[in-house]
Amino acid sequence: MVDLQTQYQQIKEEIDKGIQGVIDSAAFVKGQIVNDFQQHLAEHLGVKHVIAVGNGTDALQIALMALGLKPGDEVITPTFTFIATAEVVAVLGLKPVVVDVDIDTFNIDPEAVRRAITPKTKAIVPVHLFGQCANMDAIMQIAHEHHLFVVEDACQAIDATYTFANGHTAKAGCMGHIGCTSFFPSKNLGCYGDGGALFTDDDELAAKIRAIANHGMVVRYHHDMIGVNSRLDSIQAAVLEAKLPHLTEYTAARQSAAAYYDKTFDGHPRIIIPVRNPQSTHVFHQYTLRLVAPKGQDTAAFRDDVRARLNEKGIPAMIYYPVPLHMQKAYLDPRYRAGDFPAAEQLADCVLSLPMHTCLDNEQLTYITSSLLDILG
Ligand SMILES: *Cc1c(COP(=O)(O)O)cnc(C)c1O
Repeated sequence: MVDLQTQYQQIKEEIDKGIQGVIDSAAFVKGQIVNDFQQHLAEHLGVKHVIAVGNGTDALQIALMALGLKPGDEVITPTFTFIATAEVVAVLGLKPVVVDVDIDTFNIDPEAVRRAITPKTKAIVPVHLFGQCANMDAIMQIAHEHHLFVVEDACQAIDATYTFANGHTAKAGCMGHIGCTSFFPSKNLGCYGDGGALFTDDDELAAKIRAIANHGMVVRYHHDMIGVNSRLDSIQAAVLEAKLPHLTEYTAARQSAAAYYDKTFDGHPRIIIPVRNPQSTHVFHQYTLRLVAPKGQDTAAFRDDVRARLNEKGIPAMIYYPVPLHMQKAYLDPRYRAGDFPAAEQLADCVLSLPMHTCLDNEQLTYITSSLLDILG
């Protein structure tokens, strides 16, 4: 699915130099390189503050803590996403309220958000799934009308650009009150371990986030709020600092692989290629198809069989995500039943993600596409 080894070989000198620099300085935690990276990423994204933390899940948790939400407050998230989005809500004693997604873009359905709002609703967490932004015009409008916070889960969409209806553009994670991202190795900007960050333009929120990520401490050993310990270590920052200047070309490489897939599969009766939101660029964290089963065949069984046959040919293909949040054992809730979120449930049965990374060459793309076309007959 990913090829981090080839990518490393292409920039080995820069990476090795960065890591060696950290070892030579022995500033393994809170080294200057972390500040440098935060500043360079902030400049790249056009956001005022980047606060690096231990991972993307921590970023989401710290964001909700910084907003001062209280147990029982409701937070709206899509039901078709990675579990971390709702997990942090539950961990904090807040109430995850899940809503359906748009079947074409896989992203949170603003009308469903509107219907889910109650007097206890405090925040919306849209996820820019697979690398394309959710409908942020509608989300920000709803948040404005109901005085809600917006925390963007941009873990899969770093560097995607959204164009608002009024022509204003912004990067994924830089539109809501706080944006969160992950630097997990397979993410679009990945380090060589765990890492994550929060984005905000709000000085007060930024100060609070910094304190919470550092044991709730502003003055050393004086703890003004309950915090956590979550930080990006210097070695990871060095890797990210070396990779950041390549982010634009990495995104272009993903987009070019996606264009190849699109060109080959467009119009095929068994394949629906990823539908673009015209207001967002797509940075293709994943290239995710929907498969259409022949009449009379079970959709999930058909998809699972196609996937198994791709695997037999040595092609990894993954299902992101096979079970929507409301059907996950740990999150079962009498409010929700199978059938409540038809788009998410249908997607869980028909999606298939193909290999997607920055080093896919024509030979690999030809092999992957011709194999899938063979299997589909
Ligand atoms: C990866 C991811 C996360 C969590 O990031 P970690 O760094 O693995 O904690 C959260 N949300 C989404 C949508 C993700 O893809």
